[in-house]
Amino acid sequence: MIPPLMPTYKRADLAFERGEGSWLYASDGRRFLDFAAGIATCSVGHAHPHLVETISQQAGRVMHVSNLFRIPQAEKLAERLVANSFADSVFFCNSGAEANEGMVKMARRAQMLAGHPERTEIICMDGAFHGRTLAMLSATGNPKYLEGFGTPVGDFVHVPFNDIEAVKAAITPRTAAVMLEPVQGESGIKCASVDYLRALRALCDQTGVLLALDEVQSGVGRTGRLFAHQWAGITPDVMSTAKGLGGGFPIGAILATETVAQAMTAGTHGTTFGGNPLACAAANAVLDVLLAPGFMDQICTRAALLDTLLDSLVADAPDIFAQRRGLGLLIGLRCVPAVGDVQAAAQQAGLLCVTAGDNVLRLVPPLTVTEEDCRKAVAMLVQAVTALRGTPDNKNKPVLETTP
Ligand SMILES: *Cc1c(COP(=O)(O)O)cnc(C)c1O
Repeated sequence: MIPPLMPTYKRADLAFERGEGSWLYASDGRRFLDFAAGIATCSVGHAHPHLVETISQQAGRVMHVSNLFRIPQAEKLAERLVANSFADSVFFCNSGAEANEGMVKMARRAQMLAGHPERTEIICMDGAFHGRTLAMLSATGNPKYLEGFGTPVGDFVHVPFNDIEAVKAAITPRTAAVMLEPVQGESGIKCASVDYLRALRALCDQTGVLLALDEVQSGVGRTGRLFAHQWAGITPDVMSTAKGLGGGFPIGAILATETVAQAMTAGTHGTTFGGNPLACAAANAVLDVLLAPGFMDQICTRAALLDTLLDSLVADAPDIFAQRRGLGLLIGLRCVPAVGDVQAAAQQAGLLCVTAGDNVLRLVPPLTVTEEDCRKAVAMLVQAVTALRGTPDNKNKPVLETTP
């Protein structure tokens, strides 16, 4: 019999009562170090006092008024995002997929208003993940996700990731935008190279194609810069973000240059909940933490420590881990045994992680993670390795060839 809660996820048999910092306390009394962080979302950890206080205060005043009225919390949040990014204007929504939908609408409409209504096609990357709405399923392009949901939404084409010649070859007079994640998350923590991002920017400039970045996962400090593309010294024309922005409170955003944003006038796009006082108060509290002097440097310090510790783990356990990759605190460990087994062993050792494509174990701790917790996490992975080595061979079949 189908459970009342629709079974669209394979859930671990764990429920949490409370959290504090990078730790979650399960209802059975166990505590876990949370390097899943609600899938790279709990950016300031659990029960962060400033976030809790801000949300409580705002909830006691006014949560929602609709976008038919001014929302000072949204105005303030937009000003801060504009002041700290390439963008001139911001639209708030409620999720990553919704931000991406709006981003595609903006790119197409900006092309239309620039005299190119024929430019509607979006070039996406193999291995992309842009969300689960009908159009974003097409942008994602993974046949597994599309199956059973009818004719894919048109005008999305795919090229290999990190291959500038493939993008060049795919651009036609009908191309509106190139859309990509600077670090592909769901498909296995694959970084776009700096050279590739710079070449894409130049190619877009030459061809009048817009550069649209999906920073739903890589944005909001995850990589040690407010947005991952900043590492490459480029700016997009339009960008989506979401996951970490509300620290666990749902909010998404589309950031755009004036050229793109001016395509959106009253009535062209909308959302009932998007950018409400409560969501924007939460995001402002998150930014209070992230924009404090030295905080991005602290993320980089933690990331450098984890890189060092994880590199020696990979070197010591080539039978379990084939490679470390990622940027900042968006970390992937490519596994030799099935990643599900490695994740389960980590969980058994007290560490929560997420899986990603390409047999990758994804480590995405809160950005506030302490040095001590980073060391504990790696110690738990060492424990997991020991446990995996103890498992009978038939349960722990390699799915990857061990790198020589
Ligand atoms: C999670 C994610 C999305 C989808 O976000 P939702 O909030 O689940 O709709 C889109 N793009 C990327 C890169 C993501 O990681």
